[in-house]
Order: sequence, then structure tokens, then C-alpha cells
Amino acid sequence: MDSKYEYLADIIFPDINETIDDLEKKYPSRELPEGAEVTRFAPSPTGFLHSGALFTTLVNKKIANQTNGIFYIRLEDTDTKREIEGSADIFLEELKAFDLMPDEGLQSGGKEIGQYGPYTQSARERIYKICAKDLIRKGLAYPCFCTSEDLNKLRTMQEKEKIRPGYYGRFARCRNSSVDEMIERIKKGEKYILRLRSGGSHLKKIAFSDKIRGKIEQAQNDQDIVIIKSDGLPTYHFAHVVDDHFMRTTLVVRGEEWVASVPLHLELFYVLGFKPVKYAHVPTIMKLDGESKRKLSKRKDPEAACSYFLEAGYPTEAIIEYLLTIINSDFEPWRKQNPDKPISEFTVRLNKMNVAGALFDMVKINDISKNIIGKMSKEELFDKVNIWAEKYNKEMKALIDRDPSYMKKILGIERDNVVKVRKDFAKYNDIMPNISYMYSDLFEEDIKTGYNFADNLSKADITEIISKYIDIIDIDLDKDSWFLVLKDFTDSIGYCSNVKEYKQNKEKYKGSIVDVSGVIRVAITNRQNTPDIYSIMKVLGKDETIRRLNLLAK
Ligand code: GLU
Repeated sequence: MDSKYEYLADIIFPDINETIDDLEKKYPSRELPEGAEVTRFAPSPTGFLHSGALFTTLVNKKIANQTNGIFYIRLEDTDTKREIEGSADIFLEELKAFDLMPDEGLQSGGKEIGQYGPYTQSARERIYKICAKDLIRKGLAYPCFCTSEDLNKLRTMQEKEKIRPGYYGRFARCRNSSVDEMIERIKKGEKYILRLRSGGSHLKKIAFSDKIRGKIEQAQNDQDIVIIKSDGLPTYHFAHVVDDHFMRTTLVVRGEEWVASVPLHLELFYVLGFKPVKYAHVPTIMKLDGESKRKLSKRKDPEAACSYFLEAGYPTEAIIEYLLTIINSDFEPWRKQNPDKPISEFTVRLNKMNVAGALFDMVKINDISKNIIGKMSKEELFDKVNIWAEKYNKEMKALIDRDPSYMKKILGIERDNVVKVRKDFAKYNDIMPNISYMYSDLFEEDIKTGYNFADNLSKADITEIISKYIDIIDIDLDKDSWFLVLKDFTDSIGYCSNVKEYKQNKEKYKGSIVDVSGVIRVAITNRQNTPDIYSIMKVLGKDETIRRLNLLAK
């Protein structure tokens, strides 16, 4: 080792006396079964969990679970300008809601579990400095004194001359300063950052195997990228390599925006003497906007934030199921064959992932969610809605608290022991508008602005149907008998109980059973579409049903 470089390294980091070897000993390889993958979620503290991050996290967690590995969380807070306080707790709370808690790493309230910490980058400054010092000693990193003005000038010149942009080769001015000059400038108190002295050539290729995309070949890195910034903290690139090495990550699953940086990352692994991790770059989640695809954007799309799904009351398992459909196309056939199996039994295969850009499809999410809510028993649905309402919908919570067992009965309509389950709730906040008529005061409020009868019958016809129906209604009957009574009633007042017959001989009747039951439905609920009206009347009770009919009788 050149003693001049040693001296430079000591001047830059006088307090650092540990070496990479010390770190290797402190963070030994993990003892895990053959094939186990160590994966991680590495969010930057921007205050909200993006739906794309949820997607990546799900892949990371599934892969770790499937291989009996470890999934941990690390907070990447080196960009202090973008930081939003309390982010880690927000992430953790949301991951918990989606049942994606890490096995190791950061926990809420700033606690940590695991032997490979600290798991917050700002607390790892010393580790990065030990690694940077090692590179300086070997002449593989150097201080750069260029000001942002100098760099702007360089960029403008490169743009003008149509030269590939960046700080590399002959454009890397400080790279070619002598060590003596560097030492002198540092001693003078000039400000600097640290850069990698890249050994790559843009004319040569480097290949790696992406676990999702297969073999990728790119130009080598030749940029002298910044490794330590002026605030003493590392850049993403340097921190990624140092942390994923010493946290003993085996597989980095991250967004495709990082594919282009792999040559640089591989160079960093190489100069630091580390074995590179394996990579899997997941596609960016897109959205159809008219004809074209674009990235999900926090500004334009509420569903870009995971919190949207929690607030609206989607069962979190619906979102997970949906994400699995975009992760692997064979998830849907698997689900059809195994409708009741837990998703832990589905094996995610990275090489089967569609890389063409995953589309975020709210229609499909709603569909999956309707099915999942449809399958819940009334007790399960009640418990989930109750917890959700407590947190996100005070109005609904107040409604539940008026009489919890009544709400449970409402939620049970067309639910337990029925052939066709109601599918009108995609999320818990769809419930209140769809059931408000079950509450007398809300029903009264609703009819103040008028009834929503279909306009094919006259007011007199409506009054006649209702007035006569009151005389014969009997909701103590079982459903089949009740329906027979309704049919007889229909025929007795000049309507037709047989829809087919009615369609063939319309002129003979005032209308069909569809009109009669429609009138009764609107009289009782002020809606033209509701679940089964018999079940609704049963839950409302005889008195309230008759009271409502009477409001419209002669
Ligand atoms: N902090 C990086 C980001 O939020 C993490 C990327 C990675 O997983 O390495 O984009």
C-alpha cells in the first residue's frame, strides 16, 4: 500500500481505526439452511408507503418465507432533506396491517431486533467511513473539491458538446490531482466529498443474471460517483453495497429503476472485496391513463398510497391477493383450484414474473375484494368493520354502537347459508351508504327528498299495491310461503306472477310481479336495488315494515 494514500486516509478519517476485517468479524455470515434467502425492505423515510413498495415488500417477504430465510427492514435515511419524521413507525404500522412484518430490523418506536444493526443508515456513519477509509488507503477513492458551480459548468459543457455526461475519465478533475495537492487542500480547510476512483471502461461490458429478467449485459461503470457526501453520510449506492454486505443480504429485490446502476454496484462490491448479492428487479407499477401507461403517482392517484386501502376499508388480504396476481400469472389458476388455502401455500417464482410493467387495476381489486368480503361470515365481517370504523369512520362506528347486534343482523343479510352471496361491498366504507335504510331516522331523512319509484306505474297504482299489501303481509311465514303469498297477491290485483306469461301477453295485465315487488322494495328501502327484500323485512321487523308501508297507503 502506498504510504501517501495511507496518510491521506488518516487525514480524512483520523478517528477511524477499525478495518473492514473488524466489520467482517462483527457481522459474520448468517447460519441459515441451504437455499435460504435474506431479503429486505429498505424504504426512505418519505412518510408514506407507496403501493409499489408494498408490491416489492410482498415479493421480498414471500421469497424469504418460502426459503426459510430472513426478511428484514432497514431505514435509508441518508437524504436528510427529504426526511419526514415518524416515517418508520408509519411504515411499520402499515406493514403490520398488511401482515408483512419483517423478522428482523427496525421496529416501532425506534427499537430494533437482530444482530446486524443498526438498521437505520444515519446510525451507521462509522461503518461507511471504515469502508471509505479502506478505499482511500488503496487509492480507490479520493477527495473531490469541485464545487456545485464547477459541476454545473462541466454538465453544461458536456451537453453543449454532446458528450456523455458525468464525472469520469478526463472530466474527473480531482481524480488526477496529486496526493500531495489533496492533502494540502484538506489542510487548508477546503470542502470536499469522497468519490470512487472507477476502474471501469464504458467501452467494455459487464453481465449479470437478474432473477426476474435473466441475463442483462450493460456497459461497465466508469463514473467516479460520490460515495460520501459533504454531510458525512453515504450516497444510496455506497450504503446499498456496504449495508447489504454486512447485513448479509443474499437477494436484493428492488424496483427496476435501479437496473442501470447494477454495473456501478458490482464495481463497488468488487473494490470493497465483497461477494456481490443476487438481484431481482421488479417492474414499476403502472396505471392506464386513457390509452397510455404511466407510473402511479401520489399526486394524481389516491391508490398510490397504501393508506388509501386501509382508510377505505379494503380487507388487506384482498390487496395482497391482487398483488399476487400481478406477481405471478399462475396465482389466479392456483386460487381457483384452492379457494380456501392460505397464500403462504402459494410459491412465488421470480423467473415467472411479468416484466412488461404491471398494471394497477382498481376494477380487479374491487372484484377480488367483493369476493373476499362476500366469503366472510357475518361475525367476521362485523368484527373487521367494527375495528376499521373505530379507526377510520366515526359515523359508521356510531351506527354500530347504537345496537351492535342489529348491525350484525344487517351484515348477515344474504350472507350465511345462501347460495348467492351479496357482492355489493368492495370495501367497508361501501357498507354505510348501502344499509342506511335499515335505520328509521336515516330512512326518514332519505325519503324527505322523495321516493325513488320506477316511473312505469302511476301514483295511484303504487298506493293501491301498498294499501292492499298491508292487509295480507305476513313476515312470520318462511321465505317460500311468503313468496307464494306474494304471487297470489300479485295475481289477485291484476298483475301477473309469471314473468314469462306476462312478457307474452302484456296487454292483459297491469304489470308483473317484478313491478309489484319493486314497489314494495322502494316503499321499504327507497332503493330499486337491494338484497333480498324478504330478509330485509325480517331484520327490520314487522312493526317497522308495516309502519313504512303505511306511510304510502291510503
Ligand atoms: N431506499 C431505496 C428506495 O427507496 C431502496 C432501494 C433498494 O431497495 O435498494 O428506492
